[in-house]
Parts: sequence; C-alpha cells; structure tokens
Amino acid sequence: MKKATKVLALLLSMAMLTSVLTACGGDAAAETTDATETTEAADTGAETADTTAAADTETEAPAADEAAEAPAAVTAQEGVLTFGTNAEFPPFEFVAANGVIDQYDGIDMAIAKQIAEENGMTAAIENMEFDSLLIALQNGQIDAVIAGMTVTDERKEAVDFSTPYYTATQVMIVKEDSDIAKASDMADKKICVVQGYTGETCVSDMGYDYEAFKKGTEAVLELVNGKCDVVVIDSATAQKYVSDNEGLKIVEDPEAFDSEEYAIAVQKGNTELLDMINSTIEAKLADSTISELSAQYLDADSE
Ligand code: GLN
Repeated sequence: MKKATKVLALLLSMAMLTSVLTACGGDAAAETTDATETTEAADTGAETADTTAAADTETEAPAADEAAEAPAAVTAQEGVLTFGTNAEFPPFEFVAANGVIDQYDGIDMAIAKQIAEENGMTAAIENMEFDSLLIALQNGQIDAVIAGMTVTDERKEAVDFSTPYYTATQVMIVKEDSDIAKASDMADKKICVVQGYTGETCVSDMGYDYEAFKKGTEAVLELVNGKCDVVVIDSATAQKYVSDNEGLKIVEDPEAFDSEEYAIAVQKGNTELLDMINSTIEAKLADSTISELSAQYLDADSE
C-alpha cells in the first residue's frame, strides 16, 4: 500500500487521497456525508438515500433492543431458510430456466442451497431490489441476505456478516478502444454505476459525476450503445458482462480500488443462524467447494 500511496499522492490532492483510500476498501462511511454527490442517482430513483436514511435511524436510535425483539429466523424454524437476493448479479445470482433454487441460479444460490440442506432445511429465495435487502432483513421478511454483498462498516452497523466467502474488487468496463487506463482517467468521462452497489460509493467518493442505473445490464447496455464511457462494477460480474458483449474490456486499478469481501448478512444478534451459516461456509471454503463453484459459473475465475 505504501507504493500505491506514493503514486496516488503525486496524482491527487491530500483531501482526494484520503477520500479514495477510505472509499473503496469496504469503508462506506463517506456515503452518508456525500449525499449531495448522489443527486444524479436520485433522478433515477431515490432508494440509495432511503437505505442510507434507514441505516442512520437504526444506528442513532436504540436499535439494539429492536433487533433483539425482532422475529429472527422465524421461517427457519419451520424448516425453510429464506434468503433475500437481487438476481441481477451474474455469476452470483441470476434468473435461469432451471436454477439451483427454483428459477434462481449462480454461485450464491448454490451456496444458499448447501447452507440450508446441511442444516436440515430447504432454501427459499426472495428476489428484490438490492437497496431493499437490508431493510427486508431488519424487518424479518427474510432470514439472511446472500447477494454478492460487500462487507462495509456502514452495513455492519445495521446487520451482522458471516465469514467472507469471496474476494472481489471494483473494476472499470470500457470499450476496447477506450483511452481509460486508470481510475483518474474517468475524471472527464461519462461514468455509469449501479445504484446502491459499492461501485457507486467509490465513484461518488472520488468526487466524479455519474449516472446510476437499477441494473448492471442497463449500465452495460448504455456503454455498448456509446452513451457512457465506463461502467464501474464488481470484478467477477464485469468479467461476465465482457464475455457476453462484443467489444468491451476490463481495466483494473488496484491503487484506486481496494479488495472487497462478500459475506452473508443476518439480523444483528442472530448468532444461532450466523453460526450455522459460518460452519457451512468454512467447510465449503476448506474443501474448495466454493472455488469450484466460482470456476464453474465463471469460465475464468477472477480470483
Ligand atoms: N458487491 C457490491 C455491493 O455489495 C454489489 C453487490 C450486488 O450487486 N449484488 O454493493
């Protein structure tokens, strides 16, 4: 990181440097202070703001009591473990004719099924917008969230996370002939992100204007159609989009984008479910099931 810091220091002011380094490594604390920069996102739907507001309320109010009282894992006791996801994030979750859980397929869906089955239960999926997942979890509508969700400090204030099961990073998807070679080259470009994803936080914290879309496919279509110059999104998902669309490539900038860890979220204090999830995840990491699943769903694993 020292080398990265030196290089960045030459390129950026100290204020900018601090912002970048705290923005993209899973520390999303700046999300709440940068509300003005998400104005564009608000044009396409104000759910980012809703999520942030909900998280704030949760932390400012005496939320611990409420979480303890909430009906944690009620359905799990009936033998059905209900996971919330946003099935718009290949290769982790997507809709398919014959998915591993109903019409839902992907690395996360396979992991969810194994967690349920190893604990004598059946997995069910509730598909919803990414921004709604943590609220649905806090309300007890779902037992857990499995959605390629990056562990961030802000999210940790609202929910508890399992042992991480996958390491990713933000990358830039550009046209093959693009001159974008590093994150700072985005400064004068039209940037597309997906609303509520950590990619949005990164770009917002870098101080760049951007347009936020509801789905990764919509942002990528904008790029394919030449209406935007770059899409900032998670690495494995980017790889999937690049292999599915002609004329695109991935540009990485590890000095600007730190690694992120995906984990499963449960209601705060639901240690019983968390222990169950962790024992399966730890076993599936140890016996390479999860890396095999990653390879299976993504021709060339990005890890
Ligand atoms: N990892 C990103 C995040 O947590 C995107 C996840 C997703 O879209 N499913 O924000």
